[in-house]
Amino acid sequence: MGGHILTICYLIASVTFIVGLKMLSHPATARRGNLIAAAGMAIAIFGTIFLPRNGVYLHNYEWIFGGLLIGAIIGTIVAKKVKMTAMPEMVSMFNGMGGACAALISLVEFGHIHEETNISHTVLIIVLGLIIGSVSFAGSMVAWGKLNGKVKDFNFPGQNILNLILLFVTLGMGAWLVFHPHLTFLIYIILCTSLLYGVLFVMPIGGADMPVVISLLNSFTGVAAACGGFLYDNKVMLTGGILVGAAGTLLTILMCKAMNRSLKHVLIGSFGGNAASSSSSGSEGGAYKEISLSDAAMVLSYANKVMIVPGYGLAVAQAQHVCHELEKALVEKGVEVKYAIHPVAGRMPGHMNVLLAEADVSYDKLLEMEAANDEFKTTDVVLVLGANDVVNPAAKNDPASPIYGMPILEVELAKNVIVNKRSMKPGYAGIENALFFQPKTSMLFGDAKKVLQDLVTEVKAS
Ligand code: NDP
Repeated sequence: MGGHILTICYLIASVTFIVGLKMLSHPATARRGNLIAAAGMAIAIFGTIFLPRNGVYLHNYEWIFGGLLIGAIIGTIVAKKVKMTAMPEMVSMFNGMGGACAALISLVEFGHIHEETNISHTVLIIVLGLIIGSVSFAGSMVAWGKLNGKVKDFNFPGQNILNLILLFVTLGMGAWLVFHPHLTFLIYIILCTSLLYGVLFVMPIGGADMPVVISLLNSFTGVAAACGGFLYDNKVMLTGGILVGAAGTLLTILMCKAMNRSLKHVLIGSFGGNAASSSSSGSEGGAYKEISLSDAAMVLSYANKVMIVPGYGLAVAQAQHVCHELEKALVEKGVEVKYAIHPVAGRMPGHMNVLLAEADVSYDKLLEMEAANDEFKTTDVVLVLGANDVVNPAAKNDPASPIYGMPILEVELAKNVIVNKRSMKPGYAGIENALFFQPKTSMLFGDAKKVLQDLVTEVKAS
């Protein structure tokens, strides 16, 4: 009887994961989707703890609840304290913990295999879980260190070849262990080489490419968890793992497409990273025009339609709330205001949607790239706030540019463009932006939050 109830719990949990994932694809339903999936996970966890499986109850309750309590406290504190700009870092850390769990499950279960009949099949799953989980753990920790600036990019000639050799050696040892499960020492060597591979694999990747890598590592963790599902014949672990694996893979592909970079280039090139900060000041691009705060406020107040293009700089400046203030001040003046959202604006997928949702900007004001590009022709003023690469026309008309082919927001189709940033320095791709030198563009220099606060005051006074 308990077994049947447990199966029903797992079924309910699996359905909530799928429904939750679907709801996460829209900002209006994302929060609820997350809660629904979390409730499903709670049902699966408590069902596993309290209901018998094949007539057997779990024991060691003090360890189980001790772990749950410590994890819940740390998770809640970290999630409450994290800044929006540090979100990829936190995802990376949590993902690493998932990989570590999968690897530990493999290690523990390897000690139990000798009681089994179909040993090779079980060892295969254990080895896969161990390799993928360890790579995901070590890689995620390096990614976490890079994103918070504690770990620097590191590469040496022939590193990619060494990585390939290490990978083949690890897989070879794994295959050897599958056929010779009595060679128990091999499991520890596989653990060490997998951890080393995880570190060396992520080390050379440009710091700013990390969100793509994190998404890839996320899919690894999903697959490692699915191995655990096979091992325990646990359907909910299998479904959850496969969903994470598939979602991570799809997200990786979508991000690469939106940046027009192949996964191979992300993994072996070091595009971005420190390049942006060390690049030129942009002085060789020609003359650019500046606009004063009061003139900018005037141009915005007298427009019929204004399109705001948020970017990474808006996130860094934490200027989303004051941006909403400006929108409201302009709407009061009878201006139609919308937001144009590029899929990779910022440093993680959906970055701008999350920021603006946090500031209570209405979802129906957010236009996706294709819709926004259709509307720029009828827009009087585009206000670019801390965005750079996602509005760079070189992506369309300069085949030599590293971002050539990346779909962009075609802001130059509007009548006027006002760009707010602090200097003429480039963005993530480390390249100049011809938009800043076009006759219809005016530069409004300063920190996004400060500039927006002053603009709100000016617009209200005008
Ligand atoms: P960019 O990194 O191209 O440009 C951001 C601009 O913001 C900079 O030029 C900087 O100029 C300005 N800025 C920084 N701080 C401030 C501040 N406090 N106030 C005002 N401006 C500021 O950002 P975009 O959003 O245009 O493009 C995102 C880039 O990141 C793309 O190249 C994308 O491919 C990449 N990427 C995105 C991912 C995603 O999932 N979203 C993942 C991985 C990469 P200045 O220093 O002069 O102020």
